Amino acid sequence: MIPPIASRFVAGESPAEALEHVRSLNERDVGAIINLLGEHYDSLEAAEDDAATYRSLVADIGDTDLEACISVKPSQIGLDLGEDVFRDLLAELVEVATEADVFVWIDMEDHTTTDVTLEAFTDLAREYDGNVGVCVQANLKRTREDVERLAKLPGKVRFVKGAYDEPASVAYTDKARVNQAYEDLLEYAFEHFDDGVAIGSHDPEMIDLAKDLHEEHGTPFEIQMLMGVREEAQTELAREYEMHQYVPYGSRWKSYFYRRLMERKENVFFALRAILGR
Ligand code: FAD
Repeated sequence: MIPPIASRFVAGESPAEALEHVRSLNERDVGAIINLLGEHYDSLEAAEDDAATYRSLVADIGDTDLEACISVKPSQIGLDLGEDVFRDLLAELVEVATEADVFVWIDMEDHTTTDVTLEAFTDLAREYDGNVGVCVQANLKRTREDVERLAKLPGKVRFVKGAYDEPASVAYTDKARVNQAYEDLLEYAFEHFDDGVAIGSHDPEMIDLAKDLHEEHGTPFEIQMLMGVREEAQTELAREYEMHQYVPYGSRWKSYFYRRLMERKENVFFALRAILGR
């Protein structure tokens, strides 16, 4: 069992706990994007195990009336073991998910994985008529060109600022420049995307920009935030807009929890208060 202190950011260790959390989200009109925690496997067994867990999870979701989809990391389903392993496990997962009417997001990892991830997305988006989405990162200099190609495909695209420390040769490293790139990408996307735009950001300025662009162009959009981050804003936004929460679960929760804790000093204070019982 995860300790109560971690349960702000992680929905539990088992699929049943994750689905219970999803039900409580759905009650406040927030959809869920479920992620089984795990990445960078160097054993085929681990990659196949997680792929199998995801297949069973989508079947479980399909048997319910829950508003939930999944999001999977390429290196969790075999990318570090070879492109073929990743592509085969992903294709099998998308097939099962499509049968269960469950949408599949592909998370984006560091820049060395962008090509293979976008290639896999492109093929599956065509084959499964858009029942798949991919994440793109505004900090990467290549992303504008990628997005111009993605605009012509079915499927959804999640826009994020980028979570990986990338070299200046391929990425903007200045925060203001990344914000500018994010805004430019949203402007392009709201003008050119038919299947909607997903805003993967907690940033009130970016969310306001998305609302304005939606007013201007009518393009459908959804907002996505992480579990435990700006929860009140999530509930508030869900009253008017399509809102989804990224819900991590699984036994490998420790490093994820630690990352969430360290990214903001308020989170460290929250943890200390919880430990001290105040
Ligand atoms: P920041 O630029 O970090 O902050 C801007 C403002 O947002 C802050 O000033 C504050 O007002 C508000 N804010 C931000 N964080 C908090 C907080 N914890 N509490 C309160 N207010 C806050 N990255 C990837 O590289 N690949 C992925 O596949 C990926 N998927 C993601 C999926 C989702 C649903 C989300 C939300 C993020 C994902 N990310 C991914 C992470 C993303 O790239 C950013 O690193 C992360 O979201 C931080 O950027 P930001 O836009 O939220 O805000």
